[in-house]
Amino acid sequence: MSIATINPATNETIKTFKPLSEDEIVEKLKLAAETFKTYRHTSFAERAEKMSRAAEILENEKESFAKTMTTEMGKTFLSAVAEVEKCAWVCRYYAETAEKHLSEEEIKTNASRSFIRYEPLGVVLAVMPWNFPFWQVFRFAAPALMAGNVGLLKHASNVPQCALAIEEIFLRSGFRFGAFQTLLIESTQVQRILEDERVVAATLTGSEPAGSSVAGIAGKHIKKTVLELGGSDPFIVMPSADLETAVQTAVKARCINNGQSCIAAKRFIVHKDIYEGFKQKFVEGMKALRVGDPMDENTDIGPLATESILQELKEQVGKAVKHGANILTGGKSIDGVGNFYEPTILENIQPDSPLFYEEVFGPVAMLFSAKDIDEAIRIANDSPFGLGSCAWTDNENEQQRFIEEISAGQVFINGMVASDPRLPFGGIKHSGYGRELSAQGIREFTNVKAIWVK
Ligand code: NAP
Repeated sequence: MSIATINPATNETIKTFKPLSEDEIVEKLKLAAETFKTYRHTSFAERAEKMSRAAEILENEKESFAKTMTTEMGKTFLSAVAEVEKCAWVCRYYAETAEKHLSEEEIKTNASRSFIRYEPLGVVLAVMPWNFPFWQVFRFAAPALMAGNVGLLKHASNVPQCALAIEEIFLRSGFRFGAFQTLLIESTQVQRILEDERVVAATLTGSEPAGSSVAGIAGKHIKKTVLELGGSDPFIVMPSADLETAVQTAVKARCINNGQSCIAAKRFIVHKDIYEGFKQKFVEGMKALRVGDPMDENTDIGPLATESILQELKEQVGKAVKHGANILTGGKSIDGVGNFYEPTILENIQPDSPLFYEEVFGPVAMLFSAKDIDEAIRIANDSPFGLGSCAWTDNENEQQRFIEEISAGQVFINGMVASDPRLPFGGIKHSGYGRELSAQGIREFTNVKAIWVK
């Protein structure tokens, strides 16, 4: 994919960028490795001061950053502003907590003193997706830099101006030149960087094929990876739930970020006793959404990020219908310029339909009826993914069963799945491994060193 800003609301190419040459890459790798040698010895207080300054810049200029995001990938301007605010939150969170999360831990053994230290690893490569073009990067960069690591960013090819803006934020915050660098490169250039001995670890947020490729190369060279991949989160509704709130949240949870979120609810599994009522309200809710110009504050859903995503979504829905799915609302793209698709609900998706096991990256919900809690849990777990999940019920026994039996990195009860700097975030199965955020996230790229003194 060529590196370019193409407005998905108009399909206009605004700016193209030349990928870095081999010589330029070598210079940046050299600089990163040199910077690490001294940066690793800076104090938490020094790093925290700069990270807090990054938070201030984000807050002070949130509208300008938000506009860049909306222009490059089509998320609504209001949600882009909220994303920038969340980035400021994660910067402050780690500025305040990194030292505590990485403090030495005394362990009683037969030594006179034994303890654990958390030391930075070195230069970490972050391969990031376009869907939350600021948030995905900051949730890697804030803990990585606070831990004393140095970051290299390979951002998605359709959000180069976001990538450059983030590099500049860290520079303006006072981080030394080389602590965080954006590499404008194509995905084919990732292998060469991963193989370089100066790069010690990698994190990738994106699709399964990209994750598998990066992890394969890193594995061959014995380098640590964290993978945050796709999801097809279940959203389960039981009879005791507050139906009105559940339906309103269902619409929001499916259509957040124009339907392009890894933790968007994608499979709606509803107990048969309330199925018809839920279905009717869900259809009404999806129909009421306003699709249009993402810069307009009255718009609920903007365009999909690229023409190829729109094309793929059309094919997925078309195939599902061929395999017997019913369209309850939506089901097609919107004529005219821009990558717009109608909010859609599909019912009667059978396990022999490819869609049943796929991730749908757009505003398309899959609706299932379950005869009881056993069947609801069975459908929820019948997926290659295991990222987030949520279940709606006021029954405590049912809540406990969902908490224990759903195979996912996160279970939310009576609420929508969302990332939060204070809680670990990540998946199991094909959704990846490792964790971001919280104490677990900042420790991923550290050497957990055991010290034993006689
Ligand atoms: P993608 O195509 O995998 O791209 C993600 C990043 O990987 C981009 O920077 C891309 O660069 C790069 N890339 C692609 N193929 C690569 C390869 N073979 N080797 C190295 N790098 C490669 O994913 P996407 O379509 O942008 O993002 C959507 C996916 O991300 C969805 O599956 C979504 O669920 C997942 N996601 C997961 C999380 C999570 O936390 N679990 C969060 C957000 C999104 P180019 O742009 O240059 O191709």
